[in-house]
Amino acid sequence: MAPSQVGSVEFAASRFETQLVVVMGHTQCGAVIATLEELQGRTKNQSRNLRSIVDRVRPSVETLLYGGLEGSHEALVRATIRANVRASVNHLRHGSELLERLIQETGLLVVGAEYSLETGVVEFFENVPDVG
Ligand SMILES: [Zn+2]
Repeated sequence: MAPSQVGSVEFAASRFETQLVVVMGHTQCGAVIATLEELQGRTKNQSRNLRSIVDRVRPSVETLLYGGLEGSHEALVRATIRANVRASVNHLRHGSELLERLIQETGLLVVGAEYSLETGVVEFFENVPDVG
Protein backbone atom coordinates (compact mmCIF):
# COMPACT_ATOMS: atom_id res chain seq x y z
CA MET A 1 0.00 0.00 0.00
CA ALA A 2 1.38 3.40 -0.97
CA PRO A 3 2.26 5.85 1.81
CA SER A 4 -0.15 8.36 0.25
CA GLN A 5 -2.97 5.83 0.62
CA VAL A 6 -2.17 5.21 4.26
CA GLY A 7 -1.99 8.97 4.72
CA SER A 8 -5.47 9.42 3.24
CA VAL A 9 -6.91 6.93 5.69
CA GLU A 10 -5.06 8.56 8.58
CA PHE A 11 -6.48 11.92 7.57
CA ALA A 12 -10.05 10.64 7.37
CA ALA A 13 -9.78 8.73 10.62
CA SER A 14 -8.29 11.56 12.65
CA ARG A 15 -10.11 14.53 11.10
CA PHE A 16 -13.58 13.11 10.61
CA GLU A 17 -13.53 10.47 13.34
CA THR A 18 -14.25 7.77 10.80
CA GLN A 19 -15.07 4.56 12.64
CA LEU A 20 -14.93 2.09 9.79
CA VAL A 21 -12.34 1.62 7.07
CA VAL A 22 -13.18 -0.92 4.37
CA VAL A 23 -10.46 -2.16 2.06
CA MET A 24 -12.39 -3.38 -0.94
CA GLY A 25 -10.93 -5.54 -3.64
CA HIS A 26 -12.88 -6.57 -6.72
CA THR A 27 -13.06 -9.54 -9.02
CA GLN A 28 -11.34 -9.37 -12.43
CA CYS A 29 -8.84 -6.90 -10.99
CA GLY A 30 -6.49 -5.75 -13.73
CA ALA A 31 -3.74 -4.89 -11.27
CA VAL A 32 -3.75 -8.42 -9.91
CA ILE A 33 -3.94 -10.05 -13.33
CA ALA A 34 -1.09 -7.89 -14.66
CA THR A 35 1.04 -8.82 -11.67
CA LEU A 36 0.39 -12.51 -12.12
CA GLU A 37 1.29 -12.33 -15.79
CA GLU A 38 4.46 -10.46 -14.98
CA LEU A 39 5.55 -12.93 -12.30
CA GLN A 40 4.80 -15.86 -14.55
CA GLY A 41 6.99 -14.34 -17.22
CA ARG A 42 4.18 -13.81 -19.67
CA THR A 43 4.76 -10.14 -20.30
CA LYS A 44 7.70 -8.02 -21.33
CA ASN A 45 8.57 -4.37 -21.58
CA GLN A 46 6.23 -3.19 -18.92
CA SER A 47 5.82 0.53 -18.46
CA ARG A 48 7.24 2.08 -15.32
CA ASN A 49 3.76 3.01 -14.10
CA LEU A 50 2.47 -0.50 -14.50
CA ARG A 51 5.55 -1.77 -12.74
CA SER A 52 4.74 0.35 -9.71
CA ILE A 53 1.39 -1.44 -9.45
CA VAL A 54 3.03 -4.82 -9.90
CA ASP A 55 5.54 -4.07 -7.15
CA ARG A 56 2.75 -3.35 -4.69
CA VAL A 57 0.75 -6.46 -5.45
CA ARG A 58 3.77 -8.74 -5.81
CA PRO A 59 4.23 -9.72 -2.15
CA SER A 60 0.65 -11.02 -1.98
CA VAL A 61 1.07 -13.02 -5.14
CA GLU A 62 4.44 -14.57 -4.52
CA THR A 63 3.38 -16.52 -1.46
CA LEU A 64 0.44 -17.96 -3.41
CA LEU A 65 2.31 -18.62 -6.62
CA TYR A 66 4.41 -21.24 -4.97
CA GLY A 67 1.64 -22.56 -2.76
CA GLY A 68 0.08 -25.12 -5.05
CA LEU A 69 -2.41 -22.99 -6.97
CA GLU A 70 -0.27 -22.79 -10.09
CA GLY A 71 -2.59 -25.09 -11.97
CA SER A 72 -5.67 -22.92 -12.11
CA HIS A 73 -5.31 -19.36 -13.31
CA GLU A 74 -8.84 -18.52 -12.16
CA ALA A 75 -8.26 -19.83 -8.66
CA LEU A 76 -4.95 -18.02 -8.46
CA VAL A 77 -6.51 -14.70 -9.50
CA ARG A 78 -9.27 -15.08 -6.91
CA ALA A 79 -6.88 -16.03 -4.13
CA THR A 80 -4.52 -13.20 -5.01
CA ILE A 81 -7.26 -10.57 -4.95
CA ARG A 82 -8.22 -11.70 -1.46
CA ALA A 83 -4.65 -11.97 -0.23
CA ASN A 84 -3.99 -8.47 -1.50
CA VAL A 85 -6.97 -7.09 0.42
CA ARG A 86 -5.83 -8.91 3.57
CA ALA A 87 -2.30 -7.55 3.18
CA SER A 88 -3.65 -4.01 2.84
CA VAL A 89 -5.86 -4.44 5.92
CA ASN A 90 -2.86 -5.70 7.84
CA HIS A 91 -0.73 -2.84 6.59
CA LEU A 92 -3.30 -0.26 7.71
CA ARG A 93 -3.68 -1.90 11.10
CA HIS A 94 0.05 -2.10 11.80
CA GLY A 95 1.84 0.18 9.36
CA SER A 96 0.61 3.36 11.00
CA GLU A 97 1.11 4.36 14.61
CA LEU A 98 -1.82 6.75 14.34
CA LEU A 99 -4.25 4.12 13.10
CA GLU A 100 -2.96 1.53 15.54
CA ARG A 101 -3.69 3.95 18.37
CA LEU A 102 -7.19 4.75 17.06
CA ILE A 103 -7.94 1.04 16.77
CA GLN A 104 -7.03 0.54 20.40
CA GLU A 105 -8.49 3.72 21.84
CA THR A 106 -11.60 4.47 19.80
CA GLY A 107 -12.40 1.07 18.34
CA LEU A 108 -11.67 2.05 14.76
CA LEU A 109 -12.39 -0.96 12.56
CA VAL A 110 -10.36 -1.86 9.47
CA VAL A 111 -11.99 -4.65 7.49
CA GLY A 112 -11.55 -6.31 4.12
CA ALA A 113 -14.20 -6.95 1.49
CA GLU A 114 -14.54 -8.05 -2.09
CA TYR A 115 -16.87 -6.60 -4.67
CA SER A 116 -18.04 -8.97 -7.36
CA LEU A 117 -18.28 -7.29 -10.77
CA GLU A 118 -20.34 -10.26 -11.96
CA THR A 119 -23.07 -10.14 -9.31
CA GLY A 120 -22.70 -6.73 -7.69
CA VAL A 121 -22.47 -8.43 -4.31
CA VAL A 122 -20.02 -7.19 -1.70
CA GLU A 123 -18.70 -9.90 0.56
CA PHE A 124 -17.10 -8.85 3.82
CA PHE A 125 -14.27 -11.03 5.03
CA GLU A 126 -14.44 -12.57 8.43
CA ASN A 127 -12.71 -10.29 10.85
CA VAL A 128 -9.93 -12.72 11.55
CA PRO A 129 -7.41 -11.90 14.26
CA ASP A 130 -4.23 -10.21 13.15
CA VAL A 131 -1.25 -12.11 11.99
CA GLY A 132 1.29 -9.48 12.95
ZN1 LIG B 1 -8.48 -3.56 -9.59
